[in-house]
Amino acid sequence: MWQTYRVGTQNYLYHPSRMMLVDCGPGKDQARKLKRAAGEIRAILLTHAHADHYGGMPYLLSVFPQLTILVDPREIPFLRDPVLEPALLFGGLPPQALSGPFLLGPGNLPFQELHPALFPEIEFLHLPGHTPGLLGIAMDETLFTSDALFGLEIVEKYPILYHFNPEEALQTLRSLPERFTTFLPAHGSQGGKELLQVNINALERVFEILTDTVSQRTVPLETLLRNTMASLSPVKTLDHYFLNRSALLGYVSALERRGAITLELRDGEILVYRS
Ligand SMILES: [Zn+2]
Repeated sequence: MWQTYRVGTQNYLYHPSRMMLVDCGPGKDQARKLKRAAGEIRAILLTHAHADHYGGMPYLLSVFPQLTILVDPREIPFLRDPVLEPALLFGGLPPQALSGPFLLGPGNLPFQELHPALFPEIEFLHLPGHTPGLLGIAMDETLFTSDALFGLEIVEKYPILYHFNPEEALQTLRSLPERFTTFLPAHGSQGGKELLQVNINALERVFEILTDTVSQRTVPLETLLRNTMASLSPVKTLDHYFLNRSALLGYVSALERRGAITLELRDGEILVYRS
């Protein structure tokens, strides 16, 4: 029923009878290739409101003005105000380095809330963690995970996986139905159950490194972030730095919420220590 397309390193789905494309890439080039592959497009389902998944929308709307754009309601605030995505990464009004097409999506899109009951033949799965409303799609024993899970080459290149809520992302991966034997991510190559385990291990590894560091001594938060990045995923660009930093802060918060660590402001510096 579903067709899968690969453009660059990203994977997309197309439902021929619904003429529905799932995500449309970060910009015009990818969207044009998807249009060529799919032919007619009447609806776009956004798996989540990250610019690298919907930046191609203005181009597709210029070609198909009647296009319906469907998204889970929990993602809508980020589509209404696209600056929220880079602002969340930066922690304030984002600088230009975080305002490129991969992080700052287009505004004023005519999106609509997805009502899954209107698509009885499609099995949507709510996979929260990467974002609050992320949707996956079941295709028999294959699960299109969007960004709930990444291909092996992505995990190896970016071992500090970006998930807004790493604890919830881990819970989502651990509780996926057993019947899925193949996992098709939006980024990178598909894999079997071992790919699921690789993603779980990557999340657990970051939690372990942070816990181990803090269990030995009290550490300034900035030092903890810098050392963890240096050991796992040295960064060369500002956007990669803030992606890693924002992700790591989510892991730190998860540990604090578990009661494993304490954050304390002392002499103008945030210190982290074992609870
Ligand atoms: Zn994403």
